[in-house]
Amino acid sequence: MPTGHLLATPEAMITAAWDSGFRRLPHMAVTPDADPLVTRMREFGTTIFAEMSALAIRTGAVNLGQGFPDTDGPKEMLDAAAEAIHSGHNQYPPGPGIPELRRAVAEHQRTWWGLEYDPDGEILATAGATEAIAATILALCEPGDEVICFEPYYDSYAASIALAGAVRRPVTLRPSGDRYEFDPGELRAAFGPRTRMLLLNSPHNPTGKVFSREELSLLASLCIEHDVVAVTDEVYEHLVFSDAGSPHLPIATLPGMRERTLCISSAGKTFSCTGWKIGWASGPARLVSAVLRVKQFLTFANGGPFQPAVALALGLPASYFTGFRDDLETRRDLLCQGLTDSGFRVFRPEGTYFVTADISPLGGTDGVEFCRSLPERCGVVAVPTQVFYDHPDEGRRIVRFAFCKRREVLDEAISRLRRLG
Ligand code: PMP
Ligand code: GLN
Repeated sequence: MPTGHLLATPEAMITAAWDSGFRRLPHMAVTPDADPLVTRMREFGTTIFAEMSALAIRTGAVNLGQGFPDTDGPKEMLDAAAEAIHSGHNQYPPGPGIPELRRAVAEHQRTWWGLEYDPDGEILATAGATEAIAATILALCEPGDEVICFEPYYDSYAASIALAGAVRRPVTLRPSGDRYEFDPGELRAAFGPRTRMLLLNSPHNPTGKVFSREELSLLASLCIEHDVVAVTDEVYEHLVFSDAGSPHLPIATLPGMRERTLCISSAGKTFSCTGWKIGWASGPARLVSAVLRVKQFLTFANGGPFQPAVALALGLPASYFTGFRDDLETRRDLLCQGLTDSGFRVFRPEGTYFVTADISPLGGTDGVEFCRSLPERCGVVAVPTQVFYDHPDEGRRIVRFAFCKRREVLDEAISRLRRLG
């Protein structure tokens, strides 16, 4: 019997996925007749995040795997959503998003990053950043076109690229001191005649890297030289810590880049509402309109009552955003210290709410095996980052922990992790 997604129980799916290194399930392709899934998607199993959360539930472990906060976002925003539900905002919103949300995104882009967009034509609301990324790749990439992204990469990138029949060209980020860096020569070599898109995530999940102005300038010059579209995933735009080497800098602000950049972000992280799935894309009208033409046939529209609530949240005073970041910074410091005390080699993140760590000092040689045994060894769940690489050896010994959890949850996780030493 084929394994993987054809197995009925979540537990069996987890086991199958564990056994195959989570994401790639090559044995699923052995009996193609029994597998109705299109060939280009067969390498993808259940997402690591779903698997790890299920594992945490099954074992009762503290879940520092999947990146979702365990507290709610700002009260005004929650009240606005409840109010919208009770005041008739329950039918399809307009496909591009309600005008109020598009105006709020435009205002937010201007206030925070100095980017000017017309809410009528240059901004589009989406079902989370995930749909914006998928619709963008489907809209702009012909089969065989190449998409450059940095590995480790967010898992939906690989799947969306595969759905479009496009080809991913990963450039590796490698730890150097606390920071992850790329080899400029490798980056240059990745650009070629088939390059259509640079898919750039900064602040970067899972490494916590914030791309510097110098790095972004090199990327921008290569995009211009090769006439490549930049698509940016900026869902952690408000999570850059006070000791980061650089502030968040959208690549669209660099000379010559606005016209070739589509900026993507979402409410999930900034307002702690990952289940609402309200995202957006901003860019020149010709790019936004191409994405809209695909997006309208994916979801058409979503989140009717949540759109006005997110519009309100985007206009909260700066103190909300800085307070959110400061709070996460304290939790970052707490978890980094806890991991260091437990024997990990910690790569202190400049941004996001994830920290990566090398398991070698604890005798670990493989992140998948390590994470597989972690719930049993000490009752904590983490994510092995090797599943986010095309070259898994590059991340073989690196695991990721999320610190967007309440202080008492982090304290508990830290005390459990001490048992490893
Ligand atoms: N990109 C990155 C880098 C992420 O970490 C996530 C998870 N929030 C997403 C995209 C997906 O965002 P959303 O939940 O808004 O679809
Ligand atoms: N962005 C979240 C993370 O990196 C996961 C989102 C998801 O489960 N798809 O943990």
